[in-house]
Amino acid sequence: MTDLAQSLRRQITANGPITLADYMAEALMNPTSGYYATRDPLGAAGDFTTAPEISQMFGELIGLALAQAWIDQGQPSPFTLAELGPGRGTLMADILRATARVPGFTDAADIHFVETSPSLRAEQGKRIENPTWHDTITALPDAPLFLVANEFFDALPIRQFHRDAGGWREVQIGTQDDALTPGLSAATPIAALDHRLEDTDIGDIVELCPALPSITAQIGTRIADHGGLALIIDYGDWRSLGDTLQAIKDHAPTDPFAAPGHADITAHVDFEAIATHAAPAKFTRVTPQGVFLERLGITQRAQTLATALSGPALEAHIAAHRRLTHPEEMGSLFKVIALYPDGAATPAGLEA
Ligand code: SAH
Repeated sequence: MTDLAQSLRRQITANGPITLADYMAEALMNPTSGYYATRDPLGAAGDFTTAPEISQMFGELIGLALAQAWIDQGQPSPFTLAELGPGRGTLMADILRATARVPGFTDAADIHFVETSPSLRAEQGKRIENPTWHDTITALPDAPLFLVANEFFDALPIRQFHRDAGGWREVQIGTQDDALTPGLSAATPIAALDHRLEDTDIGDIVELCPALPSITAQIGTRIADHGGLALIIDYGDWRSLGDTLQAIKDHAPTDPFAAPGHADITAHVDFEAIATHAAPAKFTRVTPQGVFLERLGITQRAQTLATALSGPALEAHIAAHRRLTHPEEMGSLFKVIALYPDGAATPAGLEA
């Protein structure tokens, strides 16, 4: 049993079961033994791979979409170029390389990272010169905000509820035979889930991400007040239904409660919740990642890059293009939503 598992078990024995959100927060972000706090989990040697780690094309197209909105909105200067959960800093490095040719863009950009993990901050520092790091989004400046968040919201802790005749029974983590074990609370009404009484039946499972409303509102307010664009990319769908909690270790699924701190734990993102809390900013339609990247010209870009490649490098490049866009790979599971100011042009690749 790991140290973190042991200390959670002790805490639960003393104080009673904890919510799934509290469990996830500890497993992912405990300062000494949380999953993100202690390692670089990305890439072939890690536990999972993300779109920017698969191909430079992802960040290049995101960068050009941000720059197009910056031009459409009158090239505000200076502005905040922000990323939530930047991982290794690969996405921002690709954004900056692609936008270096857009006159004035990178000169006007102040780079801000929202990142809690010391080990990933160190990785980001290797690829990006002097970003300003913040622990929370509230610290972002009041200025025009051009922001990207790829696979950030899926890492935020969720609460999970099972519908019952008497209301909602919440998943709580207790202990059984020395193991951390999920159980259910007594049924109670939950005001934040009143809107789910219409589309669910007894036995259905729904999830809530407690941190999402305020994070989204922080972004929406800055964009409405000062201009900008937020591109949010993640797996999930409009309105969550069912148990979407998953844990990944060494690129394979694992039990989320077996070894807290040693596996990545995520849940699908409820894009309806993002849209609901975007006000006073506007939100676009939720669009599959594959469609979004095709509209931004990924195939043309792939062909250009292919001319310089041959052999295994060319094969890997073709596979990466497919992986990012094909419906059987990341193309449909991953979705994009953008937040933008009322009256501004619709962001590239998306629909109002
Ligand atoms: N966006 C990157 C990394 C995704 S992994 C990529 O696409 O490759 C999730 C990232 O979010 C990591 O950098 C992790 O440390 C960060 N993160 C997770 N929860 C966070 C929180 N509550 N606050 C700030 N950063 C967080």
